[in-house]
Amino acid sequence: MKKIISILLILIIGGWLITNNPFIKEKYTTNGHPFVYKGDLLLVNHDFPVKEEYIQKDIVNAHQSNYSNYYIVLSKDILISEHIKAPFEALMEQAYNDGISTFLVSSGFRSFVEQKKLYDQYGSKSALPAGYSEHNLGLSLDIGSSQGRMEDTIEGQWLAENVWQHGFIMRYPKNKTHITKIKYEPWHIRYVGLPHSILMQEKDLALEEYIEFLKTEQTVHTSVNGQDYIIEYYPSEQFSEDLLPENQTYTISGDNQSGIIVTTEA
Ligand SMILES: [Zn+2]
Repeated sequence: MKKIISILLILIIGGWLITNNPFIKEKYTTNGHPFVYKGDLLLVNHDFPVKEEYIQKDIVNAHQSNYSNYYIVLSKDILISEHIKAPFEALMEQAYNDGISTFLVSSGFRSFVEQKKLYDQYGSKSALPAGYSEHNLGLSLDIGSSQGRMEDTIEGQWLAENVWQHGFIMRYPKNKTHITKIKYEPWHIRYVGLPHSILMQEKDLALEEYIEFLKTEQTVHTSVNGQDYIIEYYPSEQFSEDLLPENQTYTISGDNQSGIIVTTEA
């Protein structure tokens, strides 16, 4: 009996040491290169929250930057990351040219404080806790239609068919709810940039699946509108800034887990 108690004690203490050992923890938290938590390809979901210290710093008002009248912004307070403003306006301009100017932007960037308010107000069925919503990144927008529910209107159909051409994706499509663990949201779009949105559309991959795809492939060559791209995935421990291309245009983004993706215009 004594033996059994001793073994149990060793197991309990050993388990505690493994999970609480300050040295092991330190190693874990410093493991990720800062680049892992920044960029347009960050995967934010129930498992991988936004790191508050890496929130986009370029948050601006979502109002139209020129005299165009392509879409309606529900309130003056709607914010987005500045670098997605031009692609978003290009998307809306294309819609306008296709005869649709009845999109209604209802939500953009949300601070952790605002997200917490929503969560407290609407609960876990309709809102996510602070840090777990893509809206905390500044790369997502909720776009409705002034004509009715998105799933019933031409606006919803047009958005799903065209959004990817400008670097955006439908983040929570109907056929991917088992992967995203989020209900079908025909109004929520997310910026990932080119050529990623086009590859995801062609391969019918949710962001979760796309990150896994890049992890497996490590190097992907693709071409969009006559522009060749090389996409390279590095586990953070294998990444160094010496690997970044010289004299070539590239973007860099983490996956918010453990990898860094470099997309180079070839
Ligand atoms: Zn949304």
